[in-house]
Amino acid sequence: MENRIKTKKIDDCIWLMDDNGEATGYLVCGEKKAAVIDTMNGIANVHAVVREITELPLTVVNTHGHCDHIFGNVYFNCDCFLHPNDAEIAAEHTGFPEFVKFCKENKLKMPPFKPINDGETIDLGGLTLEVISLPGHTPGEICLLLKEKRILFTGDSINHHLWMQLEESLPLRIFLENLNRISWVTEKADRILHGHAQGFDDISLFDELKSGIKELIETKGKGNIRHSKEYKWFGGIAKQYPFDGDGSVICYCDEKLD
Ligand SMILES: [Zn+2]
Ligand SMILES: [Zn+2]
Repeated sequence: MENRIKTKKIDDCIWLMDDNGEATGYLVCGEKKAAVIDTMNGIANVHAVVREITELPLTVVNTHGHCDHIFGNVYFNCDCFLHPNDAEIAAEHTGFPEFVKFCKENKLKMPPFKPINDGETIDLGGLTLEVISLPGHTPGEICLLLKEKRILFTGDSINHHLWMQLEESLPLRIFLENLNRISWVTEKADRILHGHAQGFDDISLFDELKSGIKELIETKGKGNIRHSKEYKWFGGIAKQYPFDGDGSVICYCDEKLD
């Protein structure tokens, strides 16, 4: 089978890995170690893909516990880090019958997660990743700041199509507080790489999203300029609120506005 993961070098030390347009992972190579940030859907052997690029010792960091970010962990036997507040979601997704069957058929096993917390750093040799906790999309979502390169990996927490309608997503008011708490990060990063991206976004996306959420909370989705629309997804019908005038939306349901 041709590998469905396509890689693209996007900086001198960073590769973007596109899993069939469904999820994006990243490989960051330091002088001594390499980090795999999110392992995507697990259908293709992401470890083999990484090994075509580097022979460095590896560390896996999952930005959160959703299946499209963790399933590829099955191909790794190194440390796989996840914030403990997402352990429950990861366990739930790992138990999806189709995935259990896939692992059994392919003799694959999900390695245990190691906890990682806010403020911890991963030293790759000349490059440092700092963990920044950002509960919202999920309770244990983290961002990773690649300090020397001024790049922020945001998983599913800051993007153009934010999912906050999920059962496990926090109320929007709490997410806004959490964004405010880490707003210092806009001084430390110039660019964003999120978990479904095809390339860089400007760090201005952080503030655009933050103002969008504030506006949504204040207007309850019935602003003078912007209004919420219906949003159909596989879990049912939610709402979507536009936030940057360029097609970006925050998906949510009314309970998240309380
Ligand atoms: Zn997610
Ligand atoms: Zn995702």
